Amino acid sequence: MYADIIISISHEKLDRSFQYRVPASLESKIEVGSCVRIPFGRGNKEITGYCIGLSETANFPESQLKDILGLEKKSALVEEKLLSLAGWIKKYYGSTMIQALKTVLPAKETIAKQVKRTVHLAAEEEKARACLYEYRRKKQSAKERLLTELIEEKELPGELVSGKLHISAATLESLEKEGLIRITTENTYRDPVKQEALSEERLFLSEEQSRAVNQVIEDFDKGCPQTYLVHGITGSGKTQVYISLIEEMIRRGRQAIVLIPEIALTYQTLMRFYKRFPGRVSVMNSTLSKGEKYDQCERAKNGDIDVIIGPRSALFTPFPNLGLIILDEEHESSYKSETTPKYHARETAIRLAAMHGASVVLGSATPSIGSYYQAKRGKFKLLTLTKRLTGGELPTVYITDMREELRNGNRSVYSLKLQELMADRLQKGQQIMLFLNRRGLAGFVSCRSCGEVMKCPHCSVALSEHRGKRLLCHYCGYETAKPDVCPKCGSKYFMGLKAGTQQLEDSLKKLFPQVKTLRMDKDTTKTKESYEQILEAFARHEADVLIGTQMIVKGHDFPNVTLVGVVMADLSLGQSDFRAGERTFQLVTQAVGRAGRGTLPGEAVIQTYQPDNYAITFAAAQDYEGFYEEELVYRQLGGYPPVEHMLAVQIFSPDRELGEGLAQDLAAMVKSLTQQHETLSNVFLLGPAPGSIEKVNDVYRFAFYLKAKEYGKLVAIKDCIEQSRRDKESGRVSIQYDFDPLNTL
Ligand code: ADP
Ligand code: ZN
Ligand code: ZN
Repeated sequence: MYADIIISISHEKLDRSFQYRVPASLESKIEVGSCVRIPFGRGNKEITGYCIGLSETANFPESQLKDILGLEKKSALVEEKLLSLAGWIKKYYGSTMIQALKTVLPAKETIAKQVKRTVHLAAEEEKARACLYEYRRKKQSAKERLLTELIEEKELPGELVSGKLHISAATLESLEKEGLIRITTENTYRDPVKQEALSEERLFLSEEQSRAVNQVIEDFDKGCPQTYLVHGITGSGKTQVYISLIEEMIRRGRQAIVLIPEIALTYQTLMRFYKRFPGRVSVMNSTLSKGEKYDQCERAKNGDIDVIIGPRSALFTPFPNLGLIILDEEHESSYKSETTPKYHARETAIRLAAMHGASVVLGSATPSIGSYYQAKRGKFKLLTLTKRLTGGELPTVYITDMREELRNGNRSVYSLKLQELMADRLQKGQQIMLFLNRRGLAGFVSCRSCGEVMKCPHCSVALSEHRGKRLLCHYCGYETAKPDVCPKCGSKYFMGLKAGTQQLEDSLKKLFPQVKTLRMDKDTTKTKESYEQILEAFARHEADVLIGTQMIVKGHDFPNVTLVGVVMADLSLGQSDFRAGERTFQLVTQAVGRAGRGTLPGEAVIQTYQPDNYAITFAAAQDYEGFYEEELVYRQLGGYPPVEHMLAVQIFSPDRELGEGLAQDLAAMVKSLTQQHETLSNVFLLGPAPGSIEKVNDVYRFAFYLKAKEYGKLVAIKDCIEQSRRDKESGRVSIQYDFDPLNTL
C-alpha cells in the first residue's frame, strides 16, 4: 500500500504531495486524514505529514520510495480537524480528496494584507442631516444610504459598508472630500460599533426562549452537546435565542458559526449581531474577495473574533475552540452544495461539531421534513417557539379554485376574490405582494379544468414534458405519450402553464390602470444590488404592488403589506421529484406569512388548480405538524428520504450516445452488484433516465437513482463505481454523486 502525503495543510500545497510506502504494520491503521511521521528530504529529517490518499500502485520505482515511520496521535490543530472533515466529506458525498480539501481550506491570496477599516461620521449631526436632505433631493441614493446609517450608528465596519450597503470606493472618496466621513484603518482590532448600542438590544427572554437557551446550555455544560431544532414562525424570537446562546458560548471561551442563507443576510440582521458583540463578529459573504475571506479565516484562527456569520461556506471558518454552529432557515436548499463534493451543510455541521464537542442549533418556521423526522425520532431535540413576539396576527387565508373560475368564465390570471381584495387595498393605500410560484415551470403539464397531474405509476412523482410529445419520469425513465385531452375529464386544456411576472404586471395594469408596481425576477435582479434596491424602494412605498418569484418571500419585513396573493401556488407540485410537496408547502407558508407583519391585520389568497392538495390546505392553515404527518406517509410508501436514503449517480457528456451508454453500463453493473453481494441486498435501482433538462451548455445529462435504508450501502456502491472508473477517466464523460439529492438533474 502507498500513501500520498502533504507536509503542510494548506490549499496551495495540495497538488504537491509525496508518495510513501505504508509498512504492513500500519496498513490497517492508516486512513485518509491521518497524521504521520515521515523521513523528509536528503537528510531524512523526521517531520509530520498528512495522508490525503491511499493506493495500491506506486508512481515511482520502489527503490525511490521511503517508508512511513509511524502514526501520530491526533493533536488539536484546527487544520487537522478540517483535514479529517475533508476525509469524511470525500467518503460521505463522493469526490476526490483534493476536491474535498479545496472545499474546506481557504485559498490564500497573495495580495497585501488587508487591514481593518472603519467608516466614521466626521461632521456634526445637524450638518449631516442637511446633506442627507440634499442627497435625497438629488436622488444620490448610495450617499443617502450610508449617511442615514452613519447618523444612527456614528461608525460602521468597512466590510458592512462595502458589502451590505453596497457603497463604492468612489462614493466613499467623494464623501470624505466633502468632509462628512472619515475612514480609519488599523491592524489591531477596535470596536467598530459604538458601545452604547449594546444596552438597546438587550431583552428579557420570553419563557419559551429561556427554556430553549437553558436546554442547550445545560446539555453543553454536562458535556453532551446535541443537535437542536428550533421550530418557530418568523417573529417568534429565534434570532434572539441564537444571540443569547452565542453570548453563553463566548462566556465559556468558545466560538460560534452562524449560517444564514445569503438572501436572508440583510444589513438589519447583521447589525443585530454586530451590536451585541462589538468588535467580535465578522461576516463572510460572496462579495468578499479571496484575500478578504482568507483574512477572516486568519482572524478566526488567531482568536480576534468569536462569531462568524455567512452562507454555507462559512462553516469552514477555522475557529480553534468552536462551541456552537447555528443554521438559520435550515430548510433552505442553498445549504447543499451544487458542485462536487455535493455536501449538505447540516450534516457536515453535525460532523464538525462532534469533532469539537460543540452544539448544533437548526432553526426554521418550516423545518425540512428530514430534520423534523430526526427530531421526532429523538436524534435531534425539538425546541418550539409558538408565540409571535412582534404582535401581529397570522393572516386570514382564502383558497381560490382556478378550475371554478375558468368554469365561471373568468380567464384572468387573478381570481375574483383576489381582484376584490386588491381593489380594497389600493383604495386604502396599503401594499400588496404578488408571488408567482415559478418553481417547476419547465415541463409542468396539468389540466386546467380538473387540476389533474399525471404521475409515474412506479415512483408517484409528476411526469414532465419531454421533447414535445412525451411525458417522462426522471427517476425511473418511464415514458408515455402525452395525451391530447385530459385522461381524467377529457378537457382539451391539458397543457403546460405559462406565466411570467411580466404577464402578471400587464394584467394587473389592465385591471387597475393607476397602479404603481415593482417587479422582481431574474431579469430585474441581474445584480445583488438591484435585488436590495427593489426591496428598499418597496419599503419606502414607492409602489403599491411588488410582483415577484420566490425571491420575494425572504428578507425584509414590510409592515404596510396587508395582502399577499399566491398565483399558481401549485406549479411546484408539478415538479418531477419527491420533494415537490415539501417545497410547495414551504413556499406557500412563507409567502402567506408575509401579510400582516405590522399592526394591520393581513389577508392572503392562494390560487390553485388543486385546492384539495394537502400541501396547499395545510399551508393555508399554517399547520406544519399536519403537513408533516401526511408527507411522511408518502415518503414511507415511496421509500424516499428521510425514511430511506437515495443516491443519484449523474453522468455528463457532450456525446449523447456515450453518456447514455455509460449510464446504462453503470446501472447494469450496480444491478449485478446488488444481486451478487448479500451486503448490498435491498438496494433498489431506478433508471437510468435523461435529466429534466437533457442538455445544458451542450453537455447531455443522465442519471440513475439508488435507494437503500442504510446510507453505508450507497457509499459502498459509490466506492465500487469509483473503483471501476479508475484509470478510465476520459475528458468526454464525467460522473458526479448526489446523496439524498434536493433536485432531480
Ligand atoms: P425570528 O428570528 O424568529 O424571526 P426575532 O428574534 O427576529 O425572531 O424576533 C422578532 C422580533 O421580536 C424582533 O424585533 C425582536 O427584537 C423581538 N424580540 C425577540 N425576543 C424578544 C423578547 N424576549 N422580548 C421582546 N422582544 C423580543
Ligand atoms: Zn381534467
Ligand atoms: Zn418513475
